[in-house]
Amino acid sequence: MAFYLRSGSLYDSRKSALPRRHMSTSACRLAAALLALCIFLFDVLSPLEGAVAVLYVLVVLIAARTAWRKDLFAAAAGAIVLTLVAYAISHGLENYGSPALRAIVSIAAIAIATMLALQNQSAMATLAAQARLLNLSHDMIFMRDIEGVIDFWNDAAEQVYGWSPAEAFGRVADELLRTRYPAERATVEAELLQNGRWEGVLEQETRSGARLVLDSRWAVQRDRLGKPMGVLEIHTDITERQAENAALVKSERRNRRMFDSSRIGVLEEDWSAVRKELASIQEKGIPVSDYLAGDPDFVARARRLIRIVDVNPALLSMVFVEDPNQFLTTVDDVLSLTDRTFVGALAAFARDDAFYEGETEMVGSDGEVIPVLFAITFPASADDGDNVLIYVVDITERRHAQDTIQQAQAELAHAARVATLGELTASIAHEVSQPLMAIVTNGEAGMRWLRRDPPNLEEVETALGRAVAEGRRASGIVKRIRAFLKKAPSHRGEIVLSALVEDATALVQRELARANVQLQVDIQAGIQNMRGDRIQLQQVLVNLMINAAHAMSAQTRPRLLFIGVVQNASKSIEITVRDTGPGVSEEHRQRLFEPFFSTKQDGMGMGLAICRTTVEAHGGQLVIDSQPGVGATFRVTLPVTEGSAAG
Ligand code: ADP
Repeated sequence: MAFYLRSGSLYDSRKSALPRRHMSTSACRLAAALLALCIFLFDVLSPLEGAVAVLYVLVVLIAARTAWRKDLFAAAAGAIVLTLVAYAISHGLENYGSPALRAIVSIAAIAIATMLALQNQSAMATLAAQARLLNLSHDMIFMRDIEGVIDFWNDAAEQVYGWSPAEAFGRVADELLRTRYPAERATVEAELLQNGRWEGVLEQETRSGARLVLDSRWAVQRDRLGKPMGVLEIHTDITERQAENAALVKSERRNRRMFDSSRIGVLEEDWSAVRKELASIQEKGIPVSDYLAGDPDFVARARRLIRIVDVNPALLSMVFVEDPNQFLTTVDDVLSLTDRTFVGALAAFARDDAFYEGETEMVGSDGEVIPVLFAITFPASADDGDNVLIYVVDITERRHAQDTIQQAQAELAHAARVATLGELTASIAHEVSQPLMAIVTNGEAGMRWLRRDPPNLEEVETALGRAVAEGRRASGIVKRIRAFLKKAPSHRGEIVLSALVEDATALVQRELARANVQLQVDIQAGIQNMRGDRIQLQQVLVNLMINAAHAMSAQTRPRLLFIGVVQNASKSIEITVRDTGPGVSEEHRQRLFEPFFSTKQDGMGMGLAICRTTVEAHGGQLVIDSQPGVGATFRVTLPVTEGSAAG
């Protein structure tokens, strides 16, 4: 592009038009016509014998300024006609001497000037079209000479920088725009001149004082001899992009800092391979959770498919690993084989849940099992890919503390059981003495039958049979009491609900009978078994029954105790212990389950507190529903074991 043409010669268009163009078309036409008239009159009237008609070249040049080809042709034709007319008037048509030669030279000069003007006009038209193109650009484009003086300024430059072309022309670009370079100005210039171009990011200031960050490309324009004539500068405004990038970098750094300095262990894992496998299962129309339950091989494979991409220092120290690269393996290498949560996490991932959390165990580098709490954050959208973040907290110490609490609770519960049995001593003694008496009686009877002559062996056998049965009964009672008093750590096993209620009622049956309490038990058929500590739950029922008997001890109306066991719609088991005692006042109800709350003179107030802790430790609830004056109802809700048999 021939932009080295200095100001004033190339712009035809609008605001970038230059001073010479400011002369309007009609003014040019008028000037050309007047000048032509003057030259004509001078040619005709002047006694001078010179090539005055050559001056018509000026008329052609003025006409050329309108940029209309027809004006140029009209001016040229007019000039030639006037030259010929003036010649005819001054010399007549018969004279072919030197005046004719001068006229021919003048006409030739007019023709040559017209041709050159035409050529110039078409070059100008091309340049103007190119200049218009530059004006369409959203980039700021300007031309400057080698000293930095601006001589072209496109529309975008005007809009963004705020100076019009007229204001920018003649100003030194660096001063006008307060340019700040990434390196020394001289270095930039040297590079530009050496390579013919320069690219970089620089800062400039607009008229309103706003600082812009610009991506700049410069190119040197040279003349035919290779001498630098000017520089074309193209600037793209990247201020916003830069700000966004800076914000992104800042947030990335902050996230990294959080990741590295967090005391919570963090793992980043790639679940894309598992995503594909889950998608193919879903395509077959199989519910993922059903599929996972039925295919342990798939679950084992999925553990190996999930790659650990990154881990933070907190996690490394949790599993005693020093080199992170040593850790970048698969989930299978860190998750304990006893883990039961992974299937749930896969199902949650397949459902596109936002997160999944639970408690599991990891395996340290030395094979040590580490109990952990974890929360998995799944990608919020498909754009986030399949990288999953897992936050892990080591709960070894918490587990120890929990164990200690559990032990203390077990000891307290044991003490309470001893205390309960202490209360039952009289009835137990009575219960045991009964079979013992029966054994003695049957033994004596047997001996009498034996002493007979002849001895009646049939009767002896019957008597001995009864003695054995009674002995077994006594031993059963002692066994039950010993089991109840056993000081053993909590042991969870499968519990048949009907057997639980039966054992508990057997322990207090005698006491209830002594206290004149009528017991009614109603156990729904087909109730599922549950997992738990049999003795602890037995203690809950014994406590509730003895409390009921105590509550009803002063009343004359019928003393009824009802125990019902049902499995409700939510699949949990509900054990109801209801009496017809005085019930519990609103005021007492608030404090009933608090340790050491008792309304009894010699009460310890620990019974209900232990009952509630025990039930809650089994994942259940213990609540009271009481109508003062009518009776109290205690409701124990317990979860059943999934898939367990009915007892
Ligand atoms: P304690 O039996 O040693 O008092 P508990 O914790 O077993 O301790 O009971 C606390 C209190 O709850 C009792 O003192 C009694 O006032 C009240 N209570 C418990 N069961 C009943 C019930 N069935 N009817 C009325 N009040 C009850």
